[in-house]
Amino acid sequence: MQIHFLGTGSAFPGAVRDNTSICFSNDVGHVLVDVSGNPCKRLKQIGVELGDLDVVIITHFHIDHIYGLPSLLWGMWLEGRTKALRIYCDERNSKRLDTWMQAMEIADWGIQFEIDIQLFKGEEKRLLFSVGDMIFSSFPAIHSVPTIGLEITFQHKCIVYSCDTEYNPFIKAYPSIDILIHEATSATEKSVNHTSMLEVVNCYSLDLIREVVLVHLSDGEDYEAVRNRMKEREKIIIAEDMLRIEL
Ligand SMILES: [Zn+2]
Ligand SMILES: [Zn+2]
Repeated sequence: MQIHFLGTGSAFPGAVRDNTSICFSNDVGHVLVDVSGNPCKRLKQIGVELGDLDVVIITHFHIDHIYGLPSLLWGMWLEGRTKALRIYCDERNSKRLDTWMQAMEIADWGIQFEIDIQLFKGEEKRLLFSVGDMIFSSFPAIHSVPTIGLEITFQHKCIVYSCDTEYNPFIKAYPSIDILIHEATSATEKSVNHTSMLEVVNCYSLDLIREVVLVHLSDGEDYEAVRNRMKEREKIIIAEDMLRIEL
């Protein structure tokens, strides 16, 4: 499987990064987690045709995670997509998704594909779906609005992703993680609703984690300085847009 980091920026406007959005792919299908920037362009850049995307997961309804959805659906319509698109949405955000769809006036476009909205209970751990050998589950993140993190298992490997969250004891409780993809909105400064890089490396047990990939990064933060001070620096990746990890 491949993990494509389409955007790696935080909510703060930045010069070099799109807002955080990740595509998980294998030979069977493609799953886009959050929709930012220009999703059609990014998907095409990684070789995913708009008609082939299987699932969109929305982690929460802050603008930096959802504003690309109109552009994605518009692009799919223009290209004549016919395959149903599943959108997974925490049921606590169901009304927000409805409002967002209505604001797009999508019912008036004449799209030829079904938008299959799958609601789930985001406040507890839930098995969501599988695409080939990638199995997706959600768990609650700790943020200012209802937000989920994701566990993706693949051939006995465990990937854990949490974009917007404070330090989360649920993540710490994993006996081992192959790849932890975690937000670091700041390098060292503590802020409510988010995590600093320093908190990520100090609060989680890095000896139980094979690799940490930091996303949701802000311009002007000196992540490299924190990394250079760490003895485990080899296992920390400060992600950049279009980073690709192959498992
Ligand atoms: Zn965010
Ligand atoms: Zn947020």
